[in-house]
Amino acid sequence: MNIEMEKISLANLPTKIERLDYTSNKFKRNIFIKRDDFTGIELSGNKVRKLEYALAEALSQGADTIITCGGIQSNHARATAAAATKLGLKSILILSSDEELPPNGNYLLDMLLGAEVRFISSEDYSHNLKAILNEVAENLKNEGRKGYIIPTGASNGIGTFGYFNALKEIVEQEKQLGLEFDTICCTVGSGGTYAGLCLGNKILNLNRQIIGFNISSTKEYFIDEVIKISKEFYSYLEGNNTLEEADIKIIDGNVGLGYALSTPEELKFLNDFAKNEGIILDPVYTAKAMKGLYSELGNPKTNYLNNSKNILFIHTGGLFGLFPKSLEFEFN
Ligand SMILES: *Cc1c(COP(=O)(O)O)cnc(C)c1O
Repeated sequence: MNIEMEKISLANLPTKIERLDYTSNKFKRNIFIKRDDFTGIELSGNKVRKLEYALAEALSQGADTIITCGGIQSNHARATAAAATKLGLKSILILSSDEELPPNGNYLLDMLLGAEVRFISSEDYSHNLKAILNEVAENLKNEGRKGYIIPTGASNGIGTFGYFNALKEIVEQEKQLGLEFDTICCTVGSGGTYAGLCLGNKILNLNRQIIGFNISSTKEYFIDEVIKISKEFYSYLEGNNTLEEADIKIIDGNVGLGYALSTPEELKFLNDFAKNEGIILDPVYTAKAMKGLYSELGNPKTNYLNNSKNILFIHTGGLFGLFPKSLEFEFN
């Protein structure tokens, strides 16, 4: 099946795939990492793949301002600010924070990139976000401008083409590597990365096992979300091969203290992984997910990985979110 969606090119693709030697030896499997943290600098991480499609849609609708949202250290908001500026558009970022913090990490980059940053409380973020985003767009309209809203993480129908196509990229790279990944893992933060990979797997009949590690909320919440995203994805296509619960394999138990909060064990894991592999994970997403993969390989909670031989983990980026946490590391 040939599914093509219009995009603008923003990311450095294809991103390379590397073998994790220490981790592979430790668990006696072939474990690889796809460096989607290398999609760019300002435009680094998984959100760029989604923005290639979302911003093509925004331009086709004649938008002049991109409105999006996230936590104060949102990688998605920062990537959106960078992409918008690059395309000559304005950006308004609605960020959640209950304290006034100085610009640091992604928030510093948002400011440098010329985004208009507006803070709302975490309470409003959880309960009134949609209304707030719509009001921003409405106010722009009254000024004769045109806003385009991208929801949290660009995890909607259009954004999902990013990882639908990333899976095609992986299949091409397998030919060069001379192997096939039986299992592909990623972090589940707002669900669009996972949904895109799962949809690719299902629609292209690839028969891989796609595993997600949720880093907030619960597995049950994300099963519903991922199904919903798959329906939005199909609003762009003919047919109805949407995801069902049986297609979704999410491993819970790695949320720790909650979204964007780190335990000393998680930070130690991030530090050990850096020392063993020479790769820096991020504290909010990929360290929790990789730690989840380690526990699953070492002491399985599910049987998902028992027969996995060639495993690919997607490094979805997030480096800038590490710097505001520098004082939390034990070597301080
Ligand atoms: C947003 C994000 C994720 C989660 O991806 P979703 O598509 O939102 O589930 C993972 N890693 C990093 C670094 C991110 O910024």
